[in-house]
Amino acid sequence: MQGKTVIECFTRKHSVETQDFASLQVPALNFPNLETGMNDNYLYAAMSLDIDPDANVAVEGRYDALSAPLQSGNVRVEACKKGLHKILELLDVYDINATLFYEARTAQMLIADRMDLPELSQNHEIACHSLKHEDYLGKVSGLPMKEDAIQESIAGAREILEGIFGRTVRGFRAPYTRVNQTVIKVLERMDFHYDSSETINLGTTWNGKPFPLKTFDSTIIELPLPAFPDARGKKMTSYLWAIFEGKRNAQEYIDAVVRAKEIAQGGLFVFAIHPWHLWINSQGDIFADEQVARNLKNFESIISQLKRMKGIRIIRMDKYLGKWR
Ligand SMILES: [Zn+2]
Repeated sequence: MQGKTVIECFTRKHSVETQDFASLQVPALNFPNLETGMNDNYLYAAMSLDIDPDANVAVEGRYDALSAPLQSGNVRVEACKKGLHKILELLDVYDINATLFYEARTAQMLIADRMDLPELSQNHEIACHSLKHEDYLGKVSGLPMKEDAIQESIAGAREILEGIFGRTVRGFRAPYTRVNQTVIKVLERMDFHYDSSETINLGTTWNGKPFPLKTFDSTIIELPLPAFPDARGKKMTSYLWAIFEGKRNAQEYIDAVVRAKEIAQGGLFVFAIHPWHLWINSQGDIFADEQVARNLKNFESIISQLKRMKGIRIIRMDKYLGKWR
């Protein structure tokens, strides 16, 4: 219904450092509500998990990621395991189905560590977060990957994940949320249904709805992460890392959803979280028990409030997209 307008709510100054998707002025996907079951009176919210190695970092001179601190030279998943257990438990308590972007190597390591991922993940969407958290664009590694190497990473990852979970995998989020035309072309060729790597200002250039990635000359659908200003006008995003690093509180995210409800009816507000971040910081330092308890409380506070909010429907990303296709 509102495909021809993108509501100007947030000021332009907040669009700094975020993709400017001029082509979004007229979203291409705008099917009649009666046919799709979408309801523009609601704002849809999705919880997505990037399940990857503890405090992962890109490393100069190599494609894959290691866990911080780099001196250890290894890849760890202990904090990821604890965080994932706890988050899945909480999602269960609040009856929330999420989207799980698995890095294939991490999924294998967790299973080797006796975690029953298929059983634990059964209510959730299984999506792909690369093979070994490759730095596809070479921003840090200094080694931009060629198309066939990117294809090998994503195809290898999907094969592993489909083997583990016995389900088709059609959603993708890139490591470090960095994509370019080559990555998107690979996804399109592999018949992925959507990418969720972009972060876009909600309300200025984007009205919250899915759109094809014309910027990359592609028809693949983007389900972006929203960016929005906080109460002081400072930019924040729905990636929940800042809350665990003590830079944000749960209420700021809830306030953002309340504002989004007014400007993105029928749109999707995607939250993202790293399970490991409940237990360690991005430098790989272990949080004190009180901090872990606080992190869990903050996460629970967000999902419990989302669940109770009027006009909000929590939905898996694949299910949301399915209503639009
Ligand atoms: Zn990641």
